[in-house]
Amino acid sequence: MAHRVTLIPGDGIGPEITEATRRVLEATGVDLEWDVQQAGADVMDAHGGDPLPPETLESIRRNGVALKGPITTPVAGGFRSVNVRLRNELDLYAQVRPCKTYEGVRTRFDHIDLVIVRETTEDNYAGIEYAYGSPEESELAAWIEAHGDRLPNPDSGLSIKPISITATRRVFEFAFDYARRMDRRKLTCVHKANIMKFTDGLWLNTAREVAERNPDLEFEDRIADNMCMQLVQWPEDYDVLVAPNLYGDMFSDLAAGLIGGLGVAPGANYGDGVAVFEPTHGSAPKYAGQNRVNPIAEMLSGMMMLHHLGEHEAADRLEQAIADLIREGKDVTYDMKPRRDDPTAVGTSAVADALIAKLTA
Ligand code: NAD
Repeated sequence: MAHRVTLIPGDGIGPEITEATRRVLEATGVDLEWDVQQAGADVMDAHGGDPLPPETLESIRRNGVALKGPITTPVAGGFRSVNVRLRNELDLYAQVRPCKTYEGVRTRFDHIDLVIVRETTEDNYAGIEYAYGSPEESELAAWIEAHGDRLPNPDSGLSIKPISITATRRVFEFAFDYARRMDRRKLTCVHKANIMKFTDGLWLNTAREVAERNPDLEFEDRIADNMCMQLVQWPEDYDVLVAPNLYGDMFSDLAAGLIGGLGVAPGANYGDGVAVFEPTHGSAPKYAGQNRVNPIAEMLSGMMMLHHLGEHEAADRLEQAIADLIREGKDVTYDMKPRRDDPTAVGTSAVADALIAKLTA
C-alpha cells in the first residue's frame, strides 16, 4: 500500500530542495503518494493572509507524516513563525537531529555519530516574557520581593522558564523508544540542575524515573557546560543527548558544526501520531531559484522519514547512496567542494540525478 505523505515545498530554496528530494525518494522504489500543501509568505494572499492555511494542517493530521521545506520568517512585522506555529498546533514535542560525519565531508572531526533529542514545548521558549517597565513586570517584581527574593537589578525584563513533569516524561519516553528503535545504546540527560534546582532539577529527576523503567539502555547525565567541552573533546563517547528546549537548540547547532555544517544536517519533529521531517537549515532566500544549494540535508530528512514509515531497507540504501556521493566528491554542490568557487560544483537537481543513477543502477 502507498504511504500518503504531506509535502510542503516551503519558500526560498524550499521548492528546489524538496523537488530534488521527492525524485530521490521515489527512486528508492518505495510507493509514496504526495499530498502537496502550501505554507509561507508566498501563499498568504491566496489564503486570506494566513501563511499556514487550515487545509495544510488538516492534511498533516490526516496523513500523520509530512516532508517540509524551510519557510522564511520575516524579522520585522510580518507573521509569527510558521515553523513555531506548526509545532504548537500539532503538539510536536520532540525534535530529533541526528549528526553523523560522512567520509569526504569538510570538517575538523571524524567518526561523529550523535543524535540530539530536544524538548520543544517548554523552557524559555514558552514565550512567557514581561518587558521591563510593563505593569505585568512591575507586578511580578513586587510579588517576587513580597516572597522574600530580590531581582539583582530593578531595571529587568523577565522571562519565565516552565519545565513540567508531563513534558519531561513524554520526551524521555520518546527518546528511549527512539533509541531502541534506531539501535542506539546510551542516553545522556543534559541539564543545569546544580543551579536551577526546581526546573532543571525536576527535568533530571523525571529523566531518572523514566530511565529506571528502561534498564536495557545505558543512562547518564551531564551538566550542560561540561557537555559543551565534552562534545568537542570526546564526541565519540556520546550517543543520544536529550536536552530541554534552549540547550537543545544550541547543542543541535554545535553538533551540526561538528559534522560539516547545515548542508548535511537533517531533522524531524515528532508528536503523538504525527511527524514532520525537515532540515535544520532555513530558506536561504539569497540562493532561491538558482539551483545551487545543497539538497542533502533535506534528503537525509527524507531518509529519516523512510525509517519512520518502516521502510528501513530503502532508508539504508538511500543513506549509502548519499554517503558514496559525498565520498566521491564529484556530483556535489559548491558548499561541499574544497573551495566555494570550485567550477566543478554541480547544481541541486544534478545531485538528485546522480543519486537516482546510483539507486537505480
Ligand atoms: P539559513 O539556514 O537559511 O541560511 C544561512 C546560510 O547557510 C545561507 O546563506 C547559506 O550560505 C547556508 N545554507 C543554508 N542552507 C543551505 C543549503 N541547503 N546548501 C548550501 N548552503 C546552505 O539561515 P538564515 O539565513 O538565518 O534564515 C533564513 C530564513 O529561514 C529566515 O527567515 C529564518 O527564519 C528561516 N528559517 C526557517 C527554518 C525552517 O523552516 N525550519 C529554520 C531556520 C531558519
